[in-house]
Amino acid sequence: MTPISFSLCVYCGSRSGNNPEFADLARQVGRWIGEHGGQLVYGGGRSGLMGILADAALDAGARVIGVIPKALVEKEYAHTGCTELHIVETMHERKRIMAEHADAFLALPGGIGTLEEFFEVWTWRQLGYHDKPVGLLNLNGFYDSLLVFLQSAVGSGFMNDWQMGLIRTGSDAPLLMQALVQAAGTTAPDVQLDQI
Ligand code: AMP
Repeated sequence: MTPISFSLCVYCGSRSGNNPEFADLARQVGRWIGEHGGQLVYGGGRSGLMGILADAALDAGARVIGVIPKALVEKEYAHTGCTELHIVETMHERKRIMAEHADAFLALPGGIGTLEEFFEVWTWRQLGYHDKPVGLLNLNGFYDSLLVFLQSAVGSGFMNDWQMGLIRTGSDAPLLMQALVQAAGTTAPDVQLDQI
C-alpha cells in the first residue's frame, strides 16, 4: 500500500447550495487531495457537497475515510464507496474519530453542522486539546460576514487576536490546503504563506 502523505479532515454542507461554484469547489478539494497522495476524512455521506467531495477524492485516487452516525446512514446516504466507512453510535464518536484520523481540518461552505464542527476543532485548538491546523475556505466571500462578526467579538473583548490567529482563512483552495498540510508538518509541496 502506498503511504499517504497527509490526512485532511474536511467539513462541508450536506446540501449543495444554490450556486454551482460550491460543487466546483468541493470537486477541486477532493481532486487535490487525491492528486497529492492524501487521505480525506469526512462525514461519510453522499448528500450535497459531502458526496461531491468524496467522489472527486476517490476518482483522484485518495483514500477516503467516512465516519457517520448510525442514525444518519439513510438521511445522509452513507457512502459505501469509501475506502473505510465507520458507522458509529453517536455524533460525538463521529467527531472524535474524524479528529483522530486528521493531520489538519478544513471547513468549506456549509450549514450549521459544518459550522459546529469548525467551531469545535477551533475551540479544541485554543484549549490545547490538539495542535492541528484549522482552515476556513472563504469561497467568494461566503464567510465574510462570519469573519466580520468574529472581529467584532474581538472588538467587544470576548475574543482576542491570538484566537483569531489560530485559524487560517483563504479563498484559494489549493493554496490554503498546501498551507494547512505544511503547517501540520506532513509532506506537501512548498507554498508561499504570504499568498494566503
Ligand atoms: P450541514 O452543514 O448542516 O449541512 O451539515 C454538515 C454535516 O455536519 C452533516 O454531516 C451533519 O450530519 C453534520 N452535523 C450536523 N449537526 C452536527 C453536530 N451537532 N455536530 C457535528 N456534526 C453535525
